[in-house]
Amino acid sequence: MSNAWAEVNLDALRHNLAFIRKRVGEDVEIMAVVKADGYGHGAREIVQALIPAGVGWFGVANTLEGIVVRSVDPDIQIMVLGQIFPENVPDVFTYGLTPIVCDYETAELLDREAQRHKKRLAVHVKIDTGMGRIGVWHEDFRFFLEDVAKLTHLRIDGFLSHFPSSDEDVEFSQSQVSIFKKVICEAEREQIRARILHMANSAAILKLSASYFDMVRPGIILYGLYPSAVFSEKYDIKPVLTLKTKISFLKLVKKGMTISYGMTYRAKKPTVIATIPVGYGDGYNRHLSNQGRVLIKGRFAPIVGRVTMDQTMVDVGNIPGVAVGDEVVLIGRQGKKEITVEEIARDLDTIPYEIVCGINKRVERIYIGSDGTGHAAKKEKKR
Ligand SMILES: *Cc1c(COP(=O)(O)O)cnc(C)c1O
Repeated sequence: MSNAWAEVNLDALRHNLAFIRKRVGEDVEIMAVVKADGYGHGAREIVQALIPAGVGWFGVANTLEGIVVRSVDPDIQIMVLGQIFPENVPDVFTYGLTPIVCDYETAELLDREAQRHKKRLAVHVKIDTGMGRIGVWHEDFRFFLEDVAKLTHLRIDGFLSHFPSSDEDVEFSQSQVSIFKKVICEAEREQIRARILHMANSAAILKLSASYFDMVRPGIILYGLYPSAVFSEKYDIKPVLTLKTKISFLKLVKKGMTISYGMTYRAKKPTVIATIPVGYGDGYNRHLSNQGRVLIKGRFAPIVGRVTMDQTMVDVGNIPGVAVGDEVVLIGRQGKKEITVEEIARDLDTIPYEIVCGINKRVERIYIGSDGTGHAAKKEKKR
């Protein structure tokens, strides 16, 4: 057992999936986005839990992540959402990944490799309608498509686009949907049709039903978290991850004593300081020094002094009966109180995504849920 562990509640995950399915309707396919090791939750286990729940598509960032997800199941569809480097083109075929294409050079490489394998490779063409990241700029789309359509070993199976601000700027997102529709109509006039159109990320699923098309690509809300602080309205999603540790040491501290590196905290009165074996080496952000809080015995305990690599100190002077070994909740619920990922993200001036992605390998993931789980991630589970 590691010093700090993350409990990943697969029932909450399935609950969030059911919420998304109800919202988008039965006819819209769901691609579960599991990049960055399932937003820090563990991609393999998330995929394993979602397949029986009916998810057939999974989104990853690169071919390496695709290979990991493929090891879970030979039949699921895996889309690589990022650009593919030439050296990774063979993996697309070996592991049956679905690439996106948005430049002719990569498309040509894929075509050539497909020819070598004597097969026709399904690809999705990414259109930039305003994200300004990868993707063919929509005004250049028709010319690009004409070129790619000539590559006889590629089959254009889908068109996709992405929103830069579906949480904050619904009007702009709406205009992106219009552009997306327009270029797809143009393609259809040229007899280029794709089976699957998709655009919506989590925020768009919550705010813009016009963006659903044939498939949606939720990431953050699957994990029960909000895309950003602008969501005042609450939806029926539940946080999947709880980050826990236990008290490793207790110390009576006299008035005037300082705590931790840099001596940034000085006790104003005699108190009890608990050491917890978690620090920035676990992905617990150092900016939480003198700022964050944890839950012990259902009550808040403030972080005092600097978060160090492996240990952090909290003031438990106001919590009676604290003992070494007591459970500490850093993220999640304990008793009636809760520390949300959103709260920590706000304190750190970032977004919930970065908090969960940042919980690193040293923190063991424990899977809990009604299907008899309660196991730690199996490290060497190879097919
Ligand atoms: C990460 C990503 C998503 C999921 O975004 P969320 O905001 O987590 O729902 C969807 N589509 C693409 C292309 C992505 O890169």
